[in-house]
Amino acid sequence: MKIIDLRSDTVTTPTDEMREAMMKAKVGDDVYREDPTVNELEELAAFIFKKEAALFVVSGTMANQVSVMTYTQRGDEIIVGRNSHIYNYEVGAIAALSGVQAMPINDENGMFSLVELEEAIRPENIHFPRTALITLENTHNRAGGVALSKEYIDEVVDIADRHGIPVYLDGARIFNACVALGVEPSKMVERVDALMFCLSKGLGAPIGSVIVGRKDFIEKARKMRKRLGGGMRQAGVIAACGIVALNKMVQRLKEDHENAELLANELSQVKGIVVEPVAVRTNMVYFMLLPGGIDAPQLAKKLLERGIKISVVSKRRVRLVTHKDVSREDVIEAAKAIKEVVEGSWRDG
Ligand SMILES: *Cc1c(COP(=O)(O)O)cnc(C)c1O
Repeated sequence: MKIIDLRSDTVTTPTDEMREAMMKAKVGDDVYREDPTVNELEELAAFIFKKEAALFVVSGTMANQVSVMTYTQRGDEIIVGRNSHIYNYEVGAIAALSGVQAMPINDENGMFSLVELEEAIRPENIHFPRTALITLENTHNRAGGVALSKEYIDEVVDIADRHGIPVYLDGARIFNACVALGVEPSKMVERVDALMFCLSKGLGAPIGSVIVGRKDFIEKARKMRKRLGGGMRQAGVIAACGIVALNKMVQRLKEDHENAELLANELSQVKGIVVEPVAVRTNMVYFMLLPGGIDAPQLAKKLLERGIKISVVSKRRVRLVTHKDVSREDVIEAAKAIKEVVEGSWRDG
């Protein structure tokens, strides 16, 4: 049976060009900084974002945690979005690995209220932890894959600057944001201290994320990566795919965004479904299933019988993600199947 997998863009498989590049990659021991392909990927990433240096790591989670470890000391506090990946989906790592506590603040639409943000920063007081870091997420996953503007990011940095606090951007899908808004990546992150992005999501590489920032920060981060056991040896075979991803896979993200828009439009006409609006859509569609009809786990089960995979976020909330391995036709087919199952559940019930 043909599978249409809309659970995540992490399910994308490497392109033929990536497989070719893996086979031909020049390699060396990257802990000794002797892997020419890893070095090339890191230089390319730094160049794209116009930052001094970059570090290749195995996952987005490792990128975020190495960064938090590098910016903080035990007992510090970091400001995170209540719906952020760092706070919700990293197994409590900021506490377990860095020994820091979270100050979670509202990020309903992917953005902090600037007033709430500034109030969350701890003043000097013998009782208080130090606010060591502010983290942002772009695109913001749990807020619907919404793309945050450079203007908003810069407003956050203005506040952080006034208090001398660094700003770190979880840019797992930063290229989706840049393509959706038509903003150069280097412009988008011009004023953040550091960021990471994932190669293994919409860009289609099999493994890897990259941290980008100032040279001294990346040097420390390199040591933290080693501490976590993340120092790799002939990693050029996977870095090679990352180079192809950056050179060839960024511009096509707009197809994923168009497919997500199409999906959102189709689903918004289905009885029993409320598609969640976003200010700037990228490659995600979140929707609610109204009480009275089928719920999310049941819908997932019924769709699986037809070869369609979706993400159940909660009892009535569903996430669909478009990516290079689902076509426009696939999206139309999936929307049709969802309509049949959901509207059928209202008739039967
Ligand atoms: C996927 C994701 C990560 C983590 O990446 P992994 O490679 O799955 O560890 C971090 N932040 C955001 C916003 C993500 O979507």
